[in-house]
Amino acid sequence: MDAKRSSADVVVVGAGPGGSAAAHWLARAGAQVVMLERARFPRDKACGDGATAHSIDILDDMGVHFDDFQGKGARTLGGLIGSPDGGTFAADPPPLENGRRAECWVVPRLVFDERLARAAQAAGATLLEESSFAAMSPHDGGWRVAYADASGARTVDCKVVIGADGAHSAVAKSLGLDENSPRHLGYALRGYYEGVEGLTDKLEIYYYDTRTLPGYGWIFPTGDGLANIGIGIYVGELRRSKKKMRELLDDFLATTPAVAARCLGARMIGRAIGWPLPVSSANRPTVFDGAMLVGDAASLVDPLSGEGIYTALVSGRSAARAALQALKAGDTSRSALRAHEREWRAEAGGYLSSGRLLKNLAKSGTLLDLIVRKAASSVYYASRAIGYGLGTLDRRRALRSIVLKAIFQPSFFVPRRRDEARYAEGG
Ligand SMILES: Cc1cc2nc3c(=O)[nH]c(=O)nc-3n(C[C@H](O)[C@H](O)[C@H](O)COP(=O)(O)OP(=O)(O)OC[C@H]3O[C@@H](n4cnc5c(N)ncnc54)[C@H](O)[C@@H]3O)c2cc1C
Repeated sequence: MDAKRSSADVVVVGAGPGGSAAAHWLARAGAQVVMLERARFPRDKACGDGATAHSIDILDDMGVHFDDFQGKGARTLGGLIGSPDGGTFAADPPPLENGRRAECWVVPRLVFDERLARAAQAAGATLLEESSFAAMSPHDGGWRVAYADASGARTVDCKVVIGADGAHSAVAKSLGLDENSPRHLGYALRGYYEGVEGLTDKLEIYYYDTRTLPGYGWIFPTGDGLANIGIGIYVGELRRSKKKMRELLDDFLATTPAVAARCLGARMIGRAIGWPLPVSSANRPTVFDGAMLVGDAASLVDPLSGEGIYTALVSGRSAARAALQALKAGDTSRSALRAHEREWRAEAGGYLSSGRLLKNLAKSGTLLDLIVRKAASSVYYASRAIGYGLGTLDRRRALRSIVLKAIFQPSFFVPRRRDEARYAEGG
């Protein structure tokens, strides 16, 4: 295939998880795909690097396996959650239906994203690196996409454009969308640390400060004794805190009881980097005439956890399937491409909408303290809470259960004396 082909069935803009998933499924089905990527791989991306359990089957289907990362990364098997009063619990999620333990991966995006882009190439997609999308204009029933590479301005013609160019999506702007309002925007910052004591095979999440809720800090082991440590916060709380992200990250490490002592000898390698989190809001369109948005460009970050790799993969795949159907039918109109939205909503809509509601509950430090206490006192609840967090259980049930118990059985959250004793012992 001509590396600089000037026409294709589909142009995918951005080679993060969303773009690579879209390009992979399109090319695998025989479509001609050009993927424009502004950077050159390997390229970094601010992230906690956590691909949680519900992403793993999709990655598997793309031919991406943990062993491909050759020791650069860690496999994790459960989670730990801490609440503002310093309580914690740790558990594995319930086993999967096939009896296997649910695993998550923490793989630095420097490595992870390149592997996904190679999976798209292996399926037959043309990847153009250092090629930055500039504009798109209607052309011959499709689009003429203008981009710039080292040799100057270029164009490629196509029937469908898939915008997978992340939080500041230029494709979304070309389609007339503004960036999210602060209500639907978070910000996260992370650094890699060495010398953190007591790393395990758990993803650790700490709701450490009532003033930054529903924001939280995380410690994810990345293998080789290193940890990816960061904080995520909504823009409203960030402004109210009057602190810089780096100060909040340092606060998290210095003030969280279960973290501070373990980080006394910790040292950041390189520098902390941050990026916006465009969280899912009910009304942002993802389908247009001849165009679709996926991942962060479609504002599909989970409002509760800030997780966006899973929804980028899901929406990349649904955009590819919708484009394939539309190309086959010779109709790439908005109504023909609606299959994209139907599919990502069917797969991840419940996860995102319950995330929106749970995020509001997670603004209450008192409720978080009570939930963590309850989970710390019961292996059953602990395991289920982690399953909801890692995407192995349908979290709509968690939401229903919390709301129903709060209304009809508030005593559920009151720890029994036996639980209190166990909680105080850290059991
Ligand atoms: C600090 C932090 C921690 C996070 N932690 C996690 C986590 O642990 N787990 C999780 O699931 N999610 C996490 N997220 C969210 C996750 O990183 C994103 O949701 C995810 O990367 C979205 O994937 P994407 O493919 O939509 O976009 P991106 O990964 O942002 O990829 C977009 C791509 O488009 C390219 N691009 C941009 N503009 C152009 C252009 N004009 N032309 C061509 N190419 C362009 C970029 O170079 C990039 O390669 C975190 C986010 C942050 C900021």
